[in-house]
Amino acid sequence: MDRVFNFAAGPSMLPLEVLKKAQTELLSYNNTGMSVMEMSHRSAAFEEIINKAEELIRELMGIPENYSVMFLQGGASTQFAMVPLNLYKNKKADYILTGAWADKAVKEAQKYGEARVLASSKDKNFSYIPKVKDFNQDSDYVHITMNNTIYGTRYTWIPQTGKIPLVADMSSNILSEQIDVSKFGLIYAGAQKNLAPSGITLVIARKDLIENCLDITPTMLQYKIHDENKSLYNTPPCFIIYILKLVLEWLKKEGGVKTMEEKNIKKASMLYNFLDNSKLFAGTAAKEDRSLMNIPFVLPNDDLNKKFIDTAKKQGFVELKGHRSVGGMRASIYNAMPVEGVKELVEIMKKFEKENS
Ligand SMILES: *Cc1c(COP(=O)(O)O)cnc(C)c1O
Repeated sequence: MDRVFNFAAGPSMLPLEVLKKAQTELLSYNNTGMSVMEMSHRSAAFEEIINKAEELIRELMGIPENYSVMFLQGGASTQFAMVPLNLYKNKKADYILTGAWADKAVKEAQKYGEARVLASSKDKNFSYIPKVKDFNQDSDYVHITMNNTIYGTRYTWIPQTGKIPLVADMSSNILSEQIDVSKFGLIYAGAQKNLAPSGITLVIARKDLIENCLDITPTMLQYKIHDENKSLYNTPPCFIIYILKLVLEWLKKEGGVKTMEEKNIKKASMLYNFLDNSKLFAGTAAKEDRSLMNIPFVLPNDDLNKKFIDTAKKQGFVELKGHRSVGGMRASIYNAMPVEGVKELVEIMKKFEKENS
C-alpha cells in the first residue's frame, strides 16, 4: 500500500527518511548484531545514542549550559504533576487556561498547592490566547500551554513574567519554530507530535529550579534524580530515544529549526489563505493567535463535514476529523508533513467547495 498523508494530531507522521533508516538498522544497529530494541541501556552503543540525542537537542534549540535536558516517561500528562511537585516552594502558581490540556495541568497542580487560573479563554471555546501582563508576585511559576493542539491557537509572544519562572507545555510546537529557551524556567513536550513516536517526554529545565522538590514527591517524579542520572535512573524507552536521534539528525540536515519554521509558515499560510477566502470552509481560531501546527476548520453543517472527511480519506488524506470539542476537521501539519501534503489538501478542498456550493 502507498503511504498516506497523515494529518493526525498525535501520534503523527514521521519523516519517511527516518523510517527507512530505522528499517535498514532494525536487525543490526551499527555492527552490534542486535536491534536497538534488544540493547542494554547501559551499553556503549546506547550511551552514544542518548548522548547524541541530547547534544542535537541542545544544538538545535540553542539550550544554555545551565539547563538540564531530560528524557522522561509518562507523557506530557505526568508533567502536569511533576511541575508542581518539583517547583512549588510557596505552593502557589498561576496558570493561563487556554484549552483542555491547560485545564488538566491546573487541576493536577491544585492537588499539591494553590494553582490559580490567572486568565482564561473559555468564554469563546478557547479560540484565542488571553493577553496577560500582570502576574502574582508570590507565584512559584507561571504555566502556559504554548500551542493548543485541540483548538489550534498559539502564543506568538512570550509572557513577560519577570523573576517568576515561566513553564511551558510545548508538546505540539517543540522544534517547529525558533524559541529563546532562556526566557523559560522549564519546557516540556510529549514526543509523539513533533519529535518521535510516543513513549518519551522531553524536559528542559533550568538547573537551579529543580534542586528541591516537595517531600512527598515519588523518586521517579524527581527531576533532580533524572538529571543526576542523565535520564538513565531506570530503563528508558531505548528505541524511542533512538528514533528521536534520527528525527533530530533529519531536522539538522534539513537546515535546522529556522528552516523548519519557514517551511511551517509556508504550509500554514497556504491553508489559512484558502480558509480566509473560502465561502464554504471556515477556520475556527482567532486570526492573530493561529497555530502553525494544528489547523481546525469547519463546513456549514455536519453532513458536509462528514462528506469531506470521507472524500479526503478515499484520496489518501487521513485523520482529518476534528476533536469533538471543536467539531469539523483538523489538519495537524507538524515538521514531518511535506509541503506537497498541504498543497494537495488545499486542492481537494477547492474541488469540494466547487462541487458543494
Ligand atoms: C498531546 C498533548 C498532551 C498530552 O500528552 P501525553 O503525552 O499523551 O500525556 C499535553 N499537552 C499538549 C499541548 C498536547 O498536545
